[in-house]
Amino acid sequence: MSAERATEAGLVRLARRLAARSGGTGVRVGIGDDCAVLDPTPGAALIATTDLLLEDVHFRRRWAEPADIGWKAMAVNLSDIASMGAEPRWALVALACPAGTRMEEVEAFYAGALALAERHGVALVGGDTSSSPHGWLVNVTVLGETPAPPLLRSTARPGDVVAVTGPLGRAAAGLALLERRAAPRGLNPGILADVTAAHLRPRPRLEEAGWLARAGGVTAMMDLSDGLATDLGRLAAESGVGACVELERLPVDAATRAVARAVGGDATAWATGGGEDYELLLTCAPAEVERLRAGLPAKAGARLSVVGAVVPGPGVRWLDSRGREVAVAAGFEHLSSRTAAGARR
Ligand SMILES: [Mg+2]
Repeated sequence: MSAERATEAGLVRLARRLAARSGGTGVRVGIGDDCAVLDPTPGAALIATTDLLLEDVHFRRRWAEPADIGWKAMAVNLSDIASMGAEPRWALVALACPAGTRMEEVEAFYAGALALAERHGVALVGGDTSSSPHGWLVNVTVLGETPAPPLLRSTARPGDVVAVTGPLGRAAAGLALLERRAAPRGLNPGILADVTAAHLRPRPRLEEAGWLARAGGVTAMMDLSDGLATDLGRLAAESGVGACVELERLPVDAATRAVARAVGGDATAWATGGGEDYELLLTCAPAEVERLRAGLPAKAGARLSVVGAVVPGPGVRWLDSRGREVAVAAGFEHLSSRTAAGARR
């Protein structure tokens, strides 16, 4: 670690050193030439995804450390690869940070990203660095593979159930705490740490997705990045179907409810519209639910919960405990608009 300022040459040296240390296979030429040269598995489909994270749009430096930013930039891409039932293999990381950023902050950023990449056998094979006139800007691209046909969001069928792989609204509860200047009185510190970690360090459901892809029976799948309301709307539209969700069936855990009570938030709105939970949203025939629920690896709170059904019509309908149709909070909005919405309350 070093207190020196980050320079272009220093950043390139750092990236090369870290890439050499990172795991993964299928890298003929890594960082150092104009392009990486990769050896995909013969016959496998190549899967590609990219995501942009911007300071004060997706995170604030006040509450996100460089290692958190690196972790999350990698996690959101790995979650997209997971949602296809694919395996991540190679990552490219581009970073722009403000003048005056210290080398140790950049090292911490890479350490956060690579801790997660290494856990899933992903090699760092390229990237770019620049200074930024504004805040931090991160762009990660991940390439993955799947030998089997990838799971798509466009193939749900009327009569299927709609299910998710874990609790919803935790990341939004975490964000509500992070955005406050002080912790609310009376909230258990363990709960505070738990839900803020859900926001800062999401765990992509790669193992669960891999298992689901191999198990068969899943008709459509995507990851929940922008909240159930938005993402289920997308799945339904892409599949040319509708969906019906029973709000009572949404898996909202005790920690999220405790935060909602402590800050005067709405746990159900967080579950439908909060976003950034990075659970898997999937559809399957009703007859497959018990087999998939029993077999799903039960790590880090993973549990298959049926929340509704795929129906013929267009759009998503939301039903309360009496079966009446209700309106729900829309999906994820970025920090600026979310803060404005928060200020109205
Ligand atoms: Mg996605």
